[in-house]
Amino acid sequence: MNLKKSKIAAVTLALSLSVAPAFSIAKDKAMETDHHHDHTVTSTYVDSLPKAKEFAPDKGPAVVEKSTNVVELDENGKVKASMNTEKTLSSKNTNKAQAKAAATKTVTVLAVADEEYRAAYSDWQTRVQQIVEKADDAFTRDHGIDFQVQAVANWSSQGGNSSQILSDLSRDWSGYNYDFVVGFTRDANFEAGGIAYVYPSAPGGSAFSVNLDQGVTNTAKAAQHEFSHNYGLSHDAQGSGIRCVMNYDYSYSVDYWHPGHNTQIQNNKSWYGN
Ligand SMILES: [Zn+2]
Ligand SMILES: [Zn+2]
Repeated sequence: MNLKKSKIAAVTLALSLSVAPAFSIAKDKAMETDHHHDHTVTSTYVDSLPKAKEFAPDKGPAVVEKSTNVVELDENGKVKASMNTEKTLSSKNTNKAQAKAAATKTVTVLAVADEEYRAAYSDWQTRVQQIVEKADDAFTRDHGIDFQVQAVANWSSQGGNSSQILSDLSRDWSGYNYDFVVGFTRDANFEAGGIAYVYPSAPGGSAFSVNLDQGVTNTAKAAQHEFSHNYGLSHDAQGSGIRCVMNYDYSYSVDYWHPGHNTQIQNNKSWYGN
């Protein structure tokens, strides 16, 4: 009799153990959906994007919308070199030229590369600019926002996971006068495709995000997703079928936002730039 009772207890425990994780996943999903619909983010949180399933080949250099003087900063933030990024937007590229002409907002970017990234690419300075120039195409086209890389920097990334590496970036590079500080990493501890702070309102300093090197094309997609988090956007629920760069199901395959998220970017556009 006693034996039988204890067997039942064990079975009950096993059941509740197996049910609990499934329940909490369902609850998270529901919260994410609610979050999305009422858009009431009340405090800053960290959000990470998975890696792309497959490698996307690079499609040649990005179009640079405006010639810019770019400085390179050393790990202490001191100017190390100065270079000029030439505008490559030609009048042949009519769609982009029109989008560019319609841009009403310029935001400034400091793009930093960690030691592993710099070791892998001797042309890292132009590579990170190219990625930001690709990541801003949809912002320019759909929202008139032009991201301009004004500085690139040497970063030494620290941390045991993506979230710690993001907070390392914000510690190392806060207090500089750029709207966005975006990190590029090849750190083995960085397990995500990208990670960013989701702000409830204008951050009052730079907005921070980090992207893993996944080649220019996929990294640019991740960067667009992470910059969107910096504008306060949260995710569309996976499996919802909502086609939006903020839905994990489409993050690496579409470059646009769904109507609700477009509205949110318009509403929060004033957070950055002059
Ligand atoms: Zn995300
Ligand atoms: Zn969306």
